[in-house]
Amino acid sequence: MSIPENLADILARIDAARKAAIAPAPQTKLVAVSKTVSEAGIREAIAAGQRLFGENRVQEAQGKFPQLKAEFPDLTLHLIGPLQTNKVKDAAALFDAIQTLDRTRLADALAAERDKSGRCPQLFIQVNTGEEPQKAGVLPAETEALIAYARKLELPLIGLMCIPPVEDDVAPHFAFLAKLAKENGLSELSMGMSGDFEMAIRFGATHVRVGSAIFGERPKI
Ligand SMILES: *Cc1c(COP(=O)(O)O)cnc(C)c1O
Repeated sequence: MSIPENLADILARIDAARKAAIAPAPQTKLVAVSKTVSEAGIREAIAAGQRLFGENRVQEAQGKFPQLKAEFPDLTLHLIGPLQTNKVKDAAALFDAIQTLDRTRLADALAAERDKSGRCPQLFIQVNTGEEPQKAGVLPAETEALIAYARKLELPLIGLMCIPPVEDDVAPHFAFLAKLAKENGLSELSMGMSGDFEMAIRFGATHVRVGSAIFGERPKI
């Protein structure tokens, strides 16, 4: 299937999942994950009407999106991969949201960049719900402290994000993230990928991050 066909299919499935959900979020946005996708592939998605994209590397996004954003002013871009503090300036200049705030040092760097340039993307805290040692994200037990820290710095924190362990049943992870967001007054929930976005919608996802189901399998590296 082509990119426009895949997109239409995913949007229809999002719609159906929202209709079937008992308590869906007021809105569920599709973040089209375009990492490793060529500019031509991204342009096909834009031509089909998609305007929200996700990239996991600052440098890769810098190679593709400045030109596209100049051409399509309503295009928005989310960073969904880990952010190093030395890339904060570049990230703040390009991304509309950063979904991967996971430590106080990064919060400090984002606040410093805001004070200097006036730029600060909207922020999600990434929670390592599976407590996987190799995975980015703040541990569940440390999440509330990081939320408080970000709020004290007056950062534009809007939600939480998670990537459940591949081998796990995802439902408990999504339920946990939704509960944590609600308890802390955060309205946005980024969860669900190509294989599990319908389940995430059941648990109130406001953003689903779908890559391979739109653009095809990525080359294995
Ligand atoms: C790559 C990626 C996705 C999309 O994964 P697919 O399985 O291709 O839909 C979603 N979220 C994050 C954080 C990713 O890195």
